[in-house]
Amino acid sequence: MSAGKAEGRSVRHVDVLILGAGAAGLMCARVAGQRGRTVALLERANKPGKKILMSGGGRCNFTNLEVEPRHFLSQNPHFCKSALKRYTQWDFISLVSEHGIPWHEKADGQLFCDHSSKDILQMLLNETESSGVSLHLNCEPQDIRQTASGWEVGTTEGLWRCESLVIATGGPSIPTLGATDWGMQWAESMGYPLVTYRASLVPFTASPEDRAHWADLSGVALPVTLNVKARQWTGDLLFTHRGLSGPVVLQISNYWQPGERLRINWWPAGDILTDWPDARRENGSQTWAAWLAQRLPRRVAEWLAGDMGTVRLADIRRGDLERLAARVHAYDFQPAGTEGYRTAEVTLGGIDTRSVSSQTFESQIHPGLYFVGEVLDVTGHLGGYNFQWAWSSGHAAGEAV
Ligand SMILES: Cc1cc2nc3c(=O)[nH]c(=O)nc-3n(C[C@H](O)[C@H](O)[C@H](O)COP(=O)(O)OP(=O)(O)OC[C@H]3O[C@@H](n4cnc5c(N)ncnc54)[C@H](O)[C@@H]3O)c2cc1C
Repeated sequence: MSAGKAEGRSVRHVDVLILGAGAAGLMCARVAGQRGRTVALLERANKPGKKILMSGGGRCNFTNLEVEPRHFLSQNPHFCKSALKRYTQWDFISLVSEHGIPWHEKADGQLFCDHSSKDILQMLLNETESSGVSLHLNCEPQDIRQTASGWEVGTTEGLWRCESLVIATGGPSIPTLGATDWGMQWAESMGYPLVTYRASLVPFTASPEDRAHWADLSGVALPVTLNVKARQWTGDLLFTHRGLSGPVVLQISNYWQPGERLRINWWPAGDILTDWPDARRENGSQTWAAWLAQRLPRRVAEWLAGDMGTVRLADIRRGDLERLAARVHAYDFQPAGTEGYRTAEVTLGGIDTRSVSSQTFESQIHPGLYFVGEVLDVTGHLGGYNFQWAWSSGHAAGEAV
């Protein structure tokens, strides 16, 4: 980094200026620094990597053993392929292992730190520091302009000049961490089309009527299958005092559009219509509430059985049996909405990738400008995929800037 003065203001020169010290920005800085580029990383918050710290319940689900393009959503589904292939989950796992960070696999190939997300952030900070990257906190861009030799960025901490400018400012989920949609808004002001963005991997809120029915169920979790249009997920659902949450709900939120209904199978492990003849033969005097309670959490069983709860297995009429089966296996739920950015893990949508190179992440409109991470219209499923996107896209740009 070199310094000078322009119009009385101090000017600092670097090869690469990266806005946003989150997952993608840190990875990009590390790789560019290792290539011998002078790199400055500007972060508007008072600490880097706040989302890394709070991720995975404090243990950072940093990648997944199985990473395929089908785990990502984008208007341009091929865009993610090249970067994911060139910097894979195995590359990141090697880095984590080289740093002696213990990790373990949870369900579905999801990899978590044994101790704390702090290990991942510290690893990235150590790597960037040893690559000579300078990190500047509480520093926000104010005006950005393209010059003959690159970019000039006026910030709250003075003026910067660089050859390559990287936008790694993420998305607006969890605004209390200081997250904003600044990157999307700035890109749009520069002529980049946006894919409409919204909160995703997010719990659903329920209508007042549904909430009243579920008042006693808050805190209960159970495995279910959820469908929205042709998409289906199986996993744990959690009743909350405002609606529905849990991994399966967050997964399906990536695919749900406002106004659409969800279909819930509360007991995917069985089938009431198929199991009923045997059940009646074995214990016809048992009530439906009791029978369901042997298969589902008791409070859920009582709620689903409703006015059939006190009816004995042997006494149910065919029409009521079918009604009960439909309620248990094909329950229609109309979400009132979602919890929004307040609790969302990601932003679905963002800068349209059609104006960005999938090899280098350089803009096709402005040479020397790069976009990486969540600010782009690439969103992963729940399970470590969003971090893998940050690592892979940050790495690809780091090799090009
Ligand atoms: C609660 C929570 C848990 C999560 N858990 C997981 C998980 O376990 N696994 C997983 O794969 N994904 C998880 N995610 C998603 C993951 O954190 C993000 O997808 C990932 O951090 C995106 O990386 P990024 O670098 O693009 O953005 P970020 O990590 O959000 O980094 C962007 C950085 O830019 C800074 N910034 C913003 N605007 C400016 C500006 N104008 N100037 C300078 N700096 C700016 C921000 O302060 C931030 O530090 C979780 C997200 C949340 C919110």
